[in-house]
Amino acid sequence: MEKPWLFLYPKEIPHHIEYEEKPVFAFLEEAAESVPHKNAIHFLGKELTFKELYESSLKLANYLSGLGVKKGDRVAVMLPNCPQAVISYFGVLFTGGIVVLTNPLYTERELEHQLNDSGAKWIICLDLLYERVSNVKNATKIEHIIVTSIRDYLPFPKNVIYPFIQKIQHGKNLKIAHGQTTHLFQKALKESSPEKIPINIQPKEDLAVLQYTGGTTGQSKGAMLTHFNLVSNTTMCVHWMYKMKKGEERILGIIPLFHAFGMTVVMNLAIMFFSKMILLPKFNVKEALRTIEKEKPTIFPGAPTIFIALLNDPDIVDYDLCSIEACISGSAPLPVEVQEQFEQITGGRLVEGYGLTEASPVTHANFLWKDSGKKGTIGVPWPDTEAFILSLDKNEPAPPNEIGELVIKGPQVMKGYWKQEEETDKSFYKGEWLKTGDLAYMDEQGYFYIVDRKKDMIIASGFNIYPREIEEVLYEHEAIQEAVVVGIPDEYRGETVKAYIVLKDQATVTAEQLEQYCREKLAPYKVPKQFEFRNELPKTAVGKILRRVLIDEEKQKS
Ligand code: AMP
Repeated sequence: MEKPWLFLYPKEIPHHIEYEEKPVFAFLEEAAESVPHKNAIHFLGKELTFKELYESSLKLANYLSGLGVKKGDRVAVMLPNCPQAVISYFGVLFTGGIVVLTNPLYTERELEHQLNDSGAKWIICLDLLYERVSNVKNATKIEHIIVTSIRDYLPFPKNVIYPFIQKIQHGKNLKIAHGQTTHLFQKALKESSPEKIPINIQPKEDLAVLQYTGGTTGQSKGAMLTHFNLVSNTTMCVHWMYKMKKGEERILGIIPLFHAFGMTVVMNLAIMFFSKMILLPKFNVKEALRTIEKEKPTIFPGAPTIFIALLNDPDIVDYDLCSIEACISGSAPLPVEVQEQFEQITGGRLVEGYGLTEASPVTHANFLWKDSGKKGTIGVPWPDTEAFILSLDKNEPAPPNEIGELVIKGPQVMKGYWKQEEETDKSFYKGEWLKTGDLAYMDEQGYFYIVDRKKDMIIASGFNIYPREIEEVLYEHEAIQEAVVVGIPDEYRGETVKAYIVLKDQATVTAEQLEQYCREKLAPYKVPKQFEFRNELPKTAVGKILRRVLIDEEKQKS
């Protein structure tokens, strides 16, 4: 397979890397040994050193081990970004267990599915989520619930107003039952020793994480990510950010650690890179701006919706954001104007990358410091990552510039889906190339362009319509803050195009004006036939717009 993109690499990025065959937790051990008193975590004013993080994780591991957790057991962790999320992740890994990262926004139905599918018998969750967990407990194999509170790490200054914390401080929804199976996180740490548990990990074989995929469509499946998958993806990231210096960086953790993007590009990167992670439990524009000004992060992984929300706050110019040097945007397409504006305001670099849970997640990115990167593309494959476009009709590699399905091979690609052999077989081409489900093309130079999700493509009167192309046109309109385009059932055309629009503050525009605007820029069959204005759009925890929710709403109407 040809790899034209390797000719584009700056000399600082190697074409091939020798990855260490170590368990993920080995990097925390190294950090605790080399820089024990350096701060590993900043959380709403509280700092935790690498030594404290390491010892707390070992204590939790010993406690879990006392509850019966052994190598290969699945332990669910249902926490927002906070120190306990990091402690729990490493705590489980130190037992040889498999972390099942669980979205705190899951409904009982979703939670029940994930717990049953993974077969987890232990769950670590936030006090606010306790009720939801205990409601599904009897329908699952859960035997032990370990409860923690955001307050556990916060002597929080009284004059700071933070609604999320206040709610907890006032005890709303706070129901901690001290039943047989409920344990308190802090007590668990106090009672346990920070001894290392002797376990033998085979990094290429043993799973570190069961990562349930996006959940934007269908029933979610557990991607089996090995220690080696995670170590290799994080190592690639370190090389991609070649100007950043080990031990000197600060990484802003706004994206959730329970998603593969945050797990790798915030948590694992910070640990491997001896860097401080600055965690925010919830995205709030003002809080994020204040934190950047005060804590001076240098690396900021984010999703387009986060960068857009920050730019749309007129007060952004009042904050000093110049500490930011390197941002990788992933999860969804990054509008070029957003990239340019953000770079102008911060003076740092913001580039688009691409990945998916099944690849730990990053496979592509633009170059951070090379001028010849291409805006509007997802960049090129990372070292040791191979990619090609699978032709839609011939089931073989397509030539440059032809749209097909993007397929990937690399050390970061999952072993398969947990207990789903058939699904696993279906998701690999020739048994070794992961089919991403994304329509894309590659140009002659080796830059990749995402056209759309295969399943988001709209077919109207026989024409293939890619929502992303229409969304890009809409995003260029001065009144529009967010736009998403979906296909809705249409008696004559099969499907037709509908756009959901969120306007910027104070902006006004009518559906007729938008239709006229689209007519000037798009072929008639692509022009949305319906526009609906909303105050906000449904989103996933990483800020990806949930098209499926809008499509389902539409279906229910008809
Ligand atoms: P997840 O498994 O939740 O990380 O979602 C992965 C999916 O997000 C991919 O298959 C893509 O559809 C989408 N995605 C990620 N990065 C980008 C990007 N830069 N542009 C367009 N779509 C993206």
